[in-house]
Parts: sequence; structure tokens; C-alpha cells
Amino acid sequence: MSVKQILTEPNKLLRQISKPVEKVGDEERVVMDDMLDTMYAAPGIGLAAIQIGVPKRIIVMDISREEDKKEPMYFVNPVIKNKNKDKSKYEEGCLSVPDQFAEIERPNACEVEYLDYYGKKQLLKAEGLLATCIQHEMDHLEGILFIDYLSKLKKSMIIKKLSKIKTKRIIV
Ligand code: ZN
Repeated sequence: MSVKQILTEPNKLLRQISKPVEKVGDEERVVMDDMLDTMYAAPGIGLAAIQIGVPKRIIVMDISREEDKKEPMYFVNPVIKNKNKDKSKYEEGCLSVPDQFAEIERPNACEVEYLDYYGKKQLLKAEGLLATCIQHEMDHLEGILFIDYLSKLKKSMIIKKLSKIKTKRIIV
């Protein structure tokens, strides 16, 4: 297991559509282990494989927010089966959009079908934070970031800010 570098916007890789996993094997489990380590180290509560440069439909999450009682969740090839019409708003951030936050509205509950760490089919009924988090992560699989829901002006301001940070880092 190892901590990988997290890609940050602007980066073309973050905009590509991730490919379905054919079979959950050891190779995929290594990716999931690395993703979990990377997410905990960041720290964050969710991470999609593309954020560490792996274009596969894999997500890890842990919304327990307790240091001593970790509850990792693994999602391979997740598909949303049902979405609630009612929405909820959370202030979202993203490990690939460092230090930027915005209120985003999403369905407040959904059902997700996926394969688990061992390749077994599962169905999750998610609501609240869990529903928001899984929808945010599933957007990554389509090359979508939460800033895409903001106005053009707001989005371009954020990207400009992030580009400046990157340039500075390179000079230093
Ligand atoms: Zn994200």
C-alpha cells in the first residue's frame, strides 16, 4: 500500500471518462488499497481512481470521520439506480480542487449498484452526506468536477487561482 500523488485541476486526465473494470482482481485491490491510503493521508472522505491517474471506475470512501474507527467503503463500476427528486445542499470541496469550496445541490438520496472489494454485487441505499459523497465521486468517473456546476465566471476564477498556485510551485 502506498500514498499516491493526487492530480489537481487544471489537468486533462481529470476530464477523461473512466473505463469499467472487467473483473475485480488483485490488481484492482492494490489500486483500492493505494487509493484508501492516499485518501486518509490527504485527508479526505472520498477518492476516485482517476484522481491518482488511474482511469478505472473505482471509488473509495470513508465518511465515519473517526480516527480510531475506520469504515472504508469500496465501489467498483457503480451505477445509480434511483435518485430522489428532493434535493439537499452541502458545501463541497475536492482533493483535486484544493482549498476551494462551494454549495452544491444534489438529490438527497439515491440507490447505487456496484461491485465490492471482492467483486460481489451490492446495492446501497444512500442518503444525506453519503448520497452527496457518492454522487460527487461518481461525477469524477465522467470527468466532472463540482466546480462545473458553478457559474462560468466563478469556475474560471477558481481555475485561474489554481493555475497560479501551480505556477508558483514550479518556480519555487
Ligand atoms: Zn472530488
